[in-house]
Amino acid sequence: MTAPLKVLLASPRGFCAGVDRAIQIVERALQKYGAPVYVRHEIVHNRHVVDGLKAKGAIFVEELSECPDDRPVVFSAHGVPKTVPAEAQRRRMLFLDATCPLVSKVHVEAARHHETGREIVLIGHAGHPEVVGTMGQLPEGAVVLIETVDDAEAFVPRDPANLAFVTQTTLSVDDTADVVEALRRRFPAIAAPHKEDICYATTNRQEAVKQLAEACDLLLVVGARNSSNSLRLVEVAKKAGARSAHLIADASVIDWAWMEGVSVLGLTAGASAPELLVQGVIDALSARYAVTTEEISGEPETVTFKLPRAVA
Ligand code: SF4
Repeated sequence: MTAPLKVLLASPRGFCAGVDRAIQIVERALQKYGAPVYVRHEIVHNRHVVDGLKAKGAIFVEELSECPDDRPVVFSAHGVPKTVPAEAQRRRMLFLDATCPLVSKVHVEAARHHETGREIVLIGHAGHPEVVGTMGQLPEGAVVLIETVDDAEAFVPRDPANLAFVTQTTLSVDDTADVVEALRRRFPAIAAPHKEDICYATTNRQEAVKQLAEACDLLLVVGARNSSNSLRLVEVAKKAGARSAHLIADASVIDWAWMEGVSVLGLTAGASAPELLVQGVIDALSARYAVTTEEISGEPETVTFKLPRAVA
């Protein structure tokens, strides 16, 4: 007899409005201008998405210098340093900016603080494209990157009375709260974002995982290794009581040894992972177990973002 397995599906999970918009921008650019359309950096952190767009005629590059002047280029959802659109303009290229509006909001915030003479602390992960893009909105030295509570404790500002902080949009809500608390304790006058920088999609997916983590013997997060919000979901699940949690690119990388003694499995997906990959995991589980699924509903999501006029 096939062993029973209960699968608890987190909701919301998978694509957010920013990822959806970025993919649509590339698809519409391909329809409007024909192939090839160049995309600077992975449009979103997911190989399946990137491969699907490549098959339609998108060419992914790391730097603008790899693109010809006469083809359209799309900038990824993570945002780019100001030098990138400036260079595209100088070369008279047709460029489409797929930066998520919630990342752009952080850029605007940082620029406003800079205008008023504040030194800016960016809470984020070194080397992540969003961090590179946000730091690149302002002259070198204007933004200081802080990754941990220890960094916050060690930080020596130019002027403790003239500081502001902003954050990467895809951080752990709880870990970031600890870093912010350390900064506020040390620098009570530090200016904070008007509205949380960690985006609604990151917050909602982390909350949804917290709701089901304790009930699971194993929690699987579908997402890419370089996807910040997917990695955070694994950490959040473990902290919230999941006995075991793993990040998987898709069903093909499930290590079936993880299933030893598992009768309840939690399943979610990062903001850049398509739902078909989640369905693929359910299919793979169903081939081995008598699966019943239950969706644990969290915060409903209705956010959508407008497309740039060139491809609207
Ligand atoms: S995870 Fe958040 S910031 Fe990133 S693209 Fe999605 S909505 Fe935008």
